[in-house]
Formats: sequence, structure tokens, C-alpha cells
Amino acid sequence: MTKIHNFGAGPCILPASVMKEAAKAIVNWNGSGLSILEISHRSSAFEAVVDNTQLLIRELLGVPDSHSVLFLQGGASTQFSMIPMNFLKNRERAAYLDTGHFAQKAIQEARLFGSVEIVGSSREKKHMYIPQIYEPSEGSAYLHLTSNNTIEGTEMFSFPKFGIPLFCDMSSDIFSREINVDDFDFIYAGAQKNLGPAGMTLVIARNSLLDSVKYSVPAMSDYRVFRDNNSMFNTPPVFSIYVAMLNLLWLKKVGGVSEIERLNIEKAKMLYNEIDRNCLFQGCADVRDRSRMNVTFVAKNKDVETAFLKLASSKGMVGISGYRAVGGFRVSLYNALPIESVLALTTLMKEFEKTTLRATPLSLHNL
Ligand code: PMP
Repeated sequence: MTKIHNFGAGPCILPASVMKEAAKAIVNWNGSGLSILEISHRSSAFEAVVDNTQLLIRELLGVPDSHSVLFLQGGASTQFSMIPMNFLKNRERAAYLDTGHFAQKAIQEARLFGSVEIVGSSREKKHMYIPQIYEPSEGSAYLHLTSNNTIEGTEMFSFPKFGIPLFCDMSSDIFSREINVDDFDFIYAGAQKNLGPAGMTLVIARNSLLDSVKYSVPAMSDYRVFRDNNSMFNTPPVFSIYVAMLNLLWLKKVGGVSEIERLNIEKAKMLYNEIDRNCLFQGCADVRDRSRMNVTFVAKNKDVETAFLKLASSKGMVGISGYRAVGGFRVSLYNALPIESVLALTTLMKEFEKTTLRATPLSLHNL
């Protein structure tokens, strides 16, 4: 069977050892004779899973005691409305940086609850860069950022300080690199990239911020309810949390976030170097803001794009088509993707360049 290289943008590749352990737990969890899918979430064995997952997150990301670690549901998309529901009512204003598709979704939802100031936008260049100079006007309830733009392939490598609460959607780069959690007041992420299977949403929030909420919100949208019930106000996404724990144990074993960051830098460099060298391909994002998680690029014409997609697919490379509205290619290099898969792709790009240039008329040489 052809080896599969999974470059999908999410849900994405998870380590093989994690899948194996999860598969075992579906049949018989820890020799209990029960499946992880049929145990009570109120059992002490599962409570230990929740506690252990929180501890691993604290340890791997260096989450200080000032912040709570919460497990919610509804994906990162639910956070787009839950954040303003808690922190922005009665027509108050919040500042948003418009860096792409998901930032815009967050903006759209926030407008249902208050007024939004777009402090910077890269929309005029299809969000292919991160605006550098911006400042929220006085009185903003918070500033909302998206650290990695999964569709466009841009990433923020430094974060501003304005003396107002800093909120960040880290869905597609959390656990891929070191961050200083204390620089942020509120971090959220859907699980289905570097954390685990879809179903759980991670929130890391400063307690004093949660305590400052002035509004009554429905229990299932109230962060304090999740905090005060150890994320088990209702039935949590048991399997998603369990597999996240396995995945975090794997991350710890391979050397933690600093080691995975080193590997992620190496993988991204390898691919961007080939894109820049190869005369058939061109990167999309500004070099300064290139994402290490989602690499977007195009072929220099449509025929070349179709031919390469077909070739890559015949070699077991999946998930490399660009987002439907963007086109081209998007190659995701999440934590569990081995460097061997990146090498297989760059080797194929080199071979493809050679055969294409040999076989096609001169017009293609002048691209
Ligand atoms: N924000 C970012 C940066 C994303 O990549 C995604 C998609 N995974 C979302 C938000 C939406 O996440 P979800 O599908 O979990 O609602």
C-alpha cells in the first residue's frame, strides 16, 4: 500500500502511537472491561483524565496560576460569539485585527453584541500579510487577534501590548511554538490541529478577567460556570479530552513545545526553500509573515497546478489543495507530521520541475 502523507489542514494528522492507544481504549480502557466511550464522565477515572489533561497543558505551555484552563464545546466558532456575549455588551467597543477568514468571522459575530473597531486589515492584499502598525482607540474592552491564519498561511510572530485585555484565537498554532501565556488574557483554540480530535475547545483565561464579567449570560455560555465546575457542568466531550491527553503525553515525550518548535521551524524552512527555488511554484504570503503551520503557494499556471495535484495524489499525498475560495496549494505541517513527509513532498516537487521542463514547450520555460 502507498504510504499516506497527511498534509490536511484540520482535522489533521495525529501521532500513530496516539491513534493506537485510542483504538485500544475504545475496546477496553485500561483493562477496565469498558470502552472509553461508555464510561461515566463523573467517574473518578475520567475526572483524573480531565485533571491530567489540564496539568499537561499547564506544564507544556507554562500556564501561570493566574489563568484557568477550561474545556468547552462548539469549536472555536462558538468562541466568536461567546467572547462578546461575556465581555462586550450594551454597545461597548472592542478592537479586532482583520487578518483573514476566521478573524472576519469573529468580527461578524462580535457586531451582534457591541461595536467593533477594525484596527488594521490586510484585506486589500487578500490577507497575505499581517498588519504591523495599529492601535486600538481608548476605551476598547479588548483587542482580538488571530495568531495563525489557517487559510491564508500567515502567522504572527510578535504580539502587541496596549494595556487592554489581549484575546487570541490560537486554533491552528497552539502547542506548535513557545508562547508567554501571561502576555495574553484570553486564549482559545479548537482542538483539531495540534491538540487532539475535534470536539473539545480549549480556553485559557485570566481569572481576574473572568471575575470582571458584569453580565448575566446563559450557563452554557458563562466561562465562570465552566471554571467553577472543573469543565464538567454538563457532559464534556469525553473522547476528545482523552485523546488530547494522549497527544499531550506524546508531545511531552518528544521534548515538549520548545523541541517541537525547533522541528516545526526545520520543516517549514525545508518547504519554503523548495517553493522559492522551484521555478514552477510561488509562495502566497509575505515572507516575513509566512506561517509554519499552513504553507500556501500557487503553481505558475493552471495546467501545472492540476498536473502536480494529480501526481501528488498518486504518491499518497493528501490534503494539499488550497482552501476552496483561495485555490492553489495549502500544505499543513502540524506537530505530528514527520519531517520525512516534507522531504517526500519537496523531492516530488524537484522531480516534477525536471520532468515538466523537459516535456513542455518553451513557453513554459519563460513563466
Ligand atoms: N479559527 C481558526 C484560526 C481556525 O483555523 C478555525 C478552523 N479550524 C476556526 C477558527 C474555526 O474552528 P471550529 O471549526 O473549531 O469552529
